[in-house]
Amino acid sequence: MKRFTQNELFELRNHIPISILIEDCLKIPAKISEDHFRFLCPLCSEFQTATNPKTNLARCFRCGKNFNTIDMVMTCEKTTFVETVNILKTYRQKLKQVRHLPGPAEITPKGQEEKK
Ligand SMILES: [Zn+2]
Repeated sequence: MKRFTQNELFELRNHIPISILIEDCLKIPAKISEDHFRFLCPLCSEFQTATNPKTNLARCFRCGKNFNTIDMVMTCEKTTFVETVNILKTYRQKLKQVRHLPGPAEITPKGQEEKK
């Protein structure tokens, strides 16, 4: 079985904004309500959710469950841990490339709007 370094896993958990992952990568329905990013919980299909940009965790108040980026992909895509890490690594590369694009063609991820 392929192994990943702690550093790689740390980067995937913390350096991919979870709100962008939810909306852009996983295409989970999401909305901004009362200044909180809310997404459709993949377990109970309710919007009683929030994300915490500081810890980069998404939480469902109904299920009482916290998701990090890896949990979120595994839950939504029903992938194994190794598959999930590979998905996130690919997505992280894509995000890096988007950020390096110069000029007006640059795509602003929606999640950045929460920083106020
Ligand atoms: Zn839930």
